[in-house]
Order: sequence, then structure tokens, then C-alpha cells
Amino acid sequence: MNESQFDCAIVGGGLAGLCLAIQLADKGREVILLEKEEYPFHKVCGEYISNESYSFLERIGLPLTTMNLPDITEVKISSPNGKSLTRKLDTGGFGISRYTLDALLFELAKKKGVVVWQNAQVNEVVSDGDSFVLRTGRKEYRAKIVCGAYGKRSLLDRKAGRHLPGAIPGALNYLAVKYHVKLDFPPNRIELHNFKGGYCGISKVDGDKCCLCYLTNAEILRENGNTIKLMEQNVLMQNPHLKAYFSEAVFLNERPLTISQITFGKKSPVEQGMLMIGDSAGTVTPLCGNGMSMAMRASFIASNLIDGYLDGRITFAQLTFLYKKEWHNSFSSRIRTGSLIQPLFGKKILTNMAIGLFRAIPWAADKVISATHGQPF
Ligand SMILES: Cc1cc2nc3c(=O)[nH]c(=O)nc-3n(C[C@H](O)[C@H](O)[C@H](O)COP(=O)(O)OP(=O)(O)OC[C@H]3O[C@@H](n4cnc5c(N)ncnc54)[C@H](O)[C@@H]3O)c2cc1C
Repeated sequence: MNESQFDCAIVGGGLAGLCLAIQLADKGREVILLEKEEYPFHKVCGEYISNESYSFLERIGLPLTTMNLPDITEVKISSPNGKSLTRKLDTGGFGISRYTLDALLFELAKKKGVVVWQNAQVNEVVSDGDSFVLRTGRKEYRAKIVCGAYGKRSLLDRKAGRHLPGAIPGALNYLAVKYHVKLDFPPNRIELHNFKGGYCGISKVDGDKCCLCYLTNAEILRENGNTIKLMEQNVLMQNPHLKAYFSEAVFLNERPLTISQITFGKKSPVEQGMLMIGDSAGTVTPLCGNGMSMAMRASFIASNLIDGYLDGRITFAQLTFLYKKEWHNSFSSRIRTGSLIQPLFGKKILTNMAIGLFRAIPWAADKVISATHGQPF
């Protein structure tokens, strides 16, 4: 293998990038993946994976059935005043920390022959007609195809003016906070508790821990002196369920993991000749979809089309056209629904009313819940 000329280069080694790399390596392609962090590392994420991607993960080589992961079969949702609703999940999901999952996929990718460079932030991608050149601080790489799998926030998007708050029409600016905690909590349940300005998800992951992760708008933090602890006491703990959890939980990290300036919505699945996979093409609100499964599904779609291009079965123009088409068919309506629903949550009166309504008409709740889960692929 020529160490700086590849069939495909992937920028970013989250779920989208790692899964794409593994599938292309399985098809015999020479792949390089550049990740700016070093595995294993934590990520802000609710860590509930919809079962739609269970068989996909097993197929690419992750032995999920042997891992004794929490099997999540019901959801409990509460409004800010604590009124709650519990429903069975049709598709359901499982819990695994991103620390564990991404590291396992990284090992799998290496085993399958993917060249993975860690601590390698890509600063620039340019096309010279025949191929692409990727530049990190240390080295340059060439590839026939480049995929952007760099998530919702990246230097590359900043340079392209793609992700700035407000760059997506109608997008709000959110902040997310995540902890791993020890808590007496049912392993088969995910709970979503609303509070003024946001909501908090809790579910079990590997290692008998719970992932406690919340999303709020930046304004709520500002109103609380930009202090997370104060915001949790003054706002989140107004919900009696969250009050109990925050009081009883043993917090396993000294400080939470946070990310700010998150926006939700559609970007573009192809940008300057790069196929965008996962959150880099558009982000769905965690309440209204399953971003991780969407990232994996996008990698599945892209891997088949890229293989066709590298084989000469389709042209580059057909590759980008077909990827855009399949991407829109698979995700557009999910992202649109998400953007419409997201602003309703965290609105005290509206959420109280919605939970009241869903308690009276439970089948309507089931319909909304099932719209957030896709079909297996
Ligand atoms: C608060 C919150 C809770 C969520 N909860 C859930 C949930 O419970 N279930 C669910 O399914 N989804 C959830 N999601 C969504 C889910 O986390 C994302 O959809 C998913 O992580 C997308 O995967 P990705 O591979 O596209 O991006 P990421 O996992 O973000 O990976 C992108 C990678 O690219 C790297 N990178 C960035 N820039 C560069 C660069 N220039 N060069 C090299 N590397 C770079 C980053 O370090 C990162 O590792 C949640 C999201 C949020 C914000």
C-alpha cells in the first residue's frame, strides 16, 4: 500500500467514520481515517442506540450479543412538573458508552487494515481534479474519495461557514451536559425528563453505569450565572424525578463533559466533492431521532456507492447524485420533524399539556415514539 495515496480518506473517527472505514476495508479498499482525538475518549451523547442498527453492528464485526448490554424496552417521559407517562418501545434499543463503543470500532478498523491516524486534525481538503489532498499539521495525504465524518462541529465547517449558530435557518443554539453516574435504575428503561428550557435523558450503559445527559438552551445557563451546578439546582431539579436522581446519584467524573453552540437541522450531504456522513450532513435532535443509528445508516449507504465508484460501475457525478438522493430519502423527513418538535420541548406549559394529552391518548404517544426509530438495515 502506498502510505500517502488511498482509495478513500475519512475525516473524523466517530460512529459514521469508523463504520464506513470498516465496511470499505471489508470490500478490499485502501482506507485512511484521520481522527483529531486519541482513543478511547468520552463524547457528549445519550448513549441509547436504537435496535435498528443492532444487526448492522454485528454484521461488521462487533459481537454485541456477547457483551451483556442493557436491553432497553420502555420509555418514561415526564413534564417539568413531574407528570409522567411510561410506554413500551416498539423497536427499543441498547445502552453502551461512546468511550467503549468508539474504542471497539477503532480496534476493529485497525484489525481490518484501515490506516488510522489519531491526534490528526485535518485542516484542509482540496481537490486537484483527479484526486483530493488532505492536510494535517504534520503531513499530506491523497485519496480518490474523501468523506467528511467530522460530526456537528469542526474546524472544516467553521472555515466553510457551515455550522455557525444561525447558519441553519431556524436553528437554536443549544448546550449539552453529560455525566456517568451510579444509580439504582431499571436496565430496561430510558427516561426523558423535561425541565424549563430543556430535557434530560437517563439510561443504563455497559459497566453498570448510567448515562445522564441533558440538553438546554444557552440562555438558561446565562440566567444562572453561567454555572452548571446552579442551573441544575435552580432549573433541572424543579422536576421531582430529576431532583431525586441528582440527589441520589454517585457522579463518576469530577466534572461533566459539555459541548455548546449545538444547532440542529439539515446541512448538505455533499460539500465540495466530499460525501458528508453522519452529523456533518445534518443533526437530528436527540429527542426526535437516533443520531447514532442515522450516522451508521449513512455509512452503509455511502460504502456501497463508493465501492461502485471505485469499481468503475458509476461515475463521480453519479456517486454524488445517488448519495444525495438516498440520503434525502432516508433522513430528510426525520430531520425536518426533529427541527419542528425540538423547540416545543422545554416549554413548561406545552410539555405539561403534551404529557397530559399522551396519557389520555397513549396510541398517539406510541406513534410519535415509533417515528423516532427507523427500520433495521
Ligand atoms: C446531547 C446529545 C445527546 C445525544 N444522545 C443520543 C442518543 O442517546 N442516541 C443517539 O442515537 N444519538 C444521540 N445523539 C446524537 C449522536 O451523538 C450523534 O448523532 C452521533 O455521535 C453522530 O456520529 P458522527 O460519527 O457523525 O459524529 P461524532 O461521533 O461527533 O464523530 C465525529 C469525529 O470527528 C472528529 N473530528 C472533528 N473534526 C475533525 C477534523 N478536522 N479532523 C479530524 N477529526 C475530526 C471528532 O473528534 C469526532 O471524533 C445525541 C447528541 C447530543 C448532542
